Amino acid sequence: MINLHNAMYYTEEKNSKVKCRLCPNLCLIKPGEKGKCNVRINTDGKLYSTNYGLTTSGARDPIEKKPLYHFLPGSCAYSYGTVGCNLFCQFCQNCMV
Ligand code: SF4
Ligand code: SF4
Repeated sequence: MINLHNAMYYTEEKNSKVKCRLCPNLCLIKPGEKGKCNVRINTDGKLYSTNYGLTTSGARDPIEKKPLYHFLPGSCAYSYGTVGCNLFCQFCQNCMV
C-alpha cells in the first residue's frame, strides 16, 4: 500500500497538472503520473510524496570508507536512504533512463 503524504514546494497548474519545485528538474506532472524521481505523484491535481518517512537502508561505517579526505579520522559516519532519486547517473544500477 502506498503511503501518500502531502508534498511541499509545488504549484497547481491548468488542467489539474502540478509543477513540482523541489529540485531543478521542475517536473510538470499530469494527473495520475509521477515526476522524474518516481516518488512524487499527482493525484487529482494535488502533489503527494510516496516516500515520506520511509527508509530503505541505514549503515554505520568508518569515516575512511566515505569520499572525504582526512575528515575526523577514526570516527564513524551514519548513512541512510530511501527510494527514489532525482539524478540519472549512467553508471548507476538504479538509473531508469
Ligand atoms: S524530480 Fe521529483 S523532486 Fe525533482 S522536480 Fe521532479 S517530481 Fe519534484
Ligand atoms: S548514483 Fe544512482 S542513486 Fe546515486 S545520485 Fe546517481 S542515479 Fe541517483
